[in-house]
Amino acid sequence: MGGVNIRPFISYLLVVIFIMAAMGAILIPLLSPMERVIGILTISGSLIVFLVLIVNIFEKYIKPVQSSAMVADELVKGNYKARTYVSYFGEAGRLSNSINKLASSLQEITLQEKMQENQLGTVIDNMESGLMLVDEKGYVHMVNRKFMDIFGGKFKDYVGFLYYDVLEEEKIHQAVQEAFLYEEKVKDSFINNHGIQRRFVEIVGAPIFNEKQVLKGAVIVFHDITELKKLEEMRKDFVANVSHELKTPITSIRGFAETLLDGAMDDPEARTQFLNIIYKESARLQALVHDLLELSKLEKEELQLYRGKVHLNRIINDVVPLISQQAEKKNILFEKDIKANIEFIGDMDRVKQILINLLNNAVNYTPEGGVVRLKANEDENTIYLEISDTGIGIPDKDKTRVFERFYRVDPARSRNTGGTGLGLAIVKHIVETHHGEIEMESEVDKGTTFLIKLPKNLK
Ligand code: ADP
Repeated sequence: MGGVNIRPFISYLLVVIFIMAAMGAILIPLLSPMERVIGILTISGSLIVFLVLIVNIFEKYIKPVQSSAMVADELVKGNYKARTYVSYFGEAGRLSNSINKLASSLQEITLQEKMQENQLGTVIDNMESGLMLVDEKGYVHMVNRKFMDIFGGKFKDYVGFLYYDVLEEEKIHQAVQEAFLYEEKVKDSFINNHGIQRRFVEIVGAPIFNEKQVLKGAVIVFHDITELKKLEEMRKDFVANVSHELKTPITSIRGFAETLLDGAMDDPEARTQFLNIIYKESARLQALVHDLLELSKLEKEELQLYRGKVHLNRIINDVVPLISQQAEKKNILFEKDIKANIEFIGDMDRVKQILINLLNNAVNYTPEGGVVRLKANEDENTIYLEISDTGIGIPDKDKTRVFERFYRVDPARSRNTGGTGLGLAIVKHIVETHHGEIEMESEVDKGTTFLIKLPKNLK
């Protein structure tokens, strides 16, 4: 500390010098020359001794005490960086030492407090749930980043305002009021429309008490449960879809079997026709169950794909006769452009499934006289499979949805061709489990192309 006040000592010193000078001026004329010399020497000597003494006292006692007092003042003001001049002498020395120690411990404590505050702030701000702190009068004291994510706006739009003035949702008002009223945890949920986003939000409100158990406010936590709701809805849809898909062939089989039993089996023509329908419907049922099992296996075994060396040309040789036959029946030209000896690491049966599903679709959704093409190529790291047709194509509005389970552009058409609505969902799943990519281009009445990229080394 540089600001030690030296002025009073200089004043004392000047007064002493002045008194001595005045005494000298009075006494000197009364003395002999010899006595004068001795007198002046004595006074000068005493003055020097006195000066040294004063400076010593000042340096050792007064300066450290003054400096300590000033540092104590600074500490009171909250400036914990202040340090005093350190003296090693006596009580004054101990005082300044203690003051410095006090200052550094205070500095340390505030630093730790600040760090803890920062950590807490970071945790609160990075929480996956929104948070709002309301005091007992209803004023918002704190909101976190996720809260603003859910409700929009900025920190200053909420903090310092009454919660019911800044949040419209009635369910939030109720949650805060109930937390205050019943002094216990409350739970509720609501749909929040912020911008174009529609979110399902779960609210949990809890009262806050001080150490004397007096209510001091409430903390409201907002969980974004949109994804969870979506999953729940998807599961419900799936169950409803499966039931619906199974119901149709079962009803049909039962109906025709009943008609046969009611006498239609005596009519040979009707019998053959109905038995044919029963056969077709049961085949559909079988395909459906097969695809459902395939999907559920894929989901379960995601992490345990059978990895092995896949000889693509061998798979294609297995699939081609099947597709050629179907294509021939519909008078569709089936063209192949396959690079020889393509090999990679993957799950052979699953890759075969991709080709079967896509080629089947290509033939099913291409009218007579059309063309279906299969291309296979590779580069250093990737396998490229391209399946294209000159068929009916997929309208733009349906393009993102055809990979969903049971989604069909034209349900009747899909069913007539034996489709289950699960083929593309299975393909997408297999491609994803192989860490590959699938792209689709399609134009109504012109045709559709699927391009699949699979990494050569499945990890
Ligand atoms: P499906 O068993 O009905 O064929 P998919 O999951 O294989 O089920 O296909 C979903 C829907 O996508 C089909 O119902 C059909 O409307 C459309 N689709 C699939 N492939 C083609 C294609 N090559 N050309 C036109 N539409 C297609």
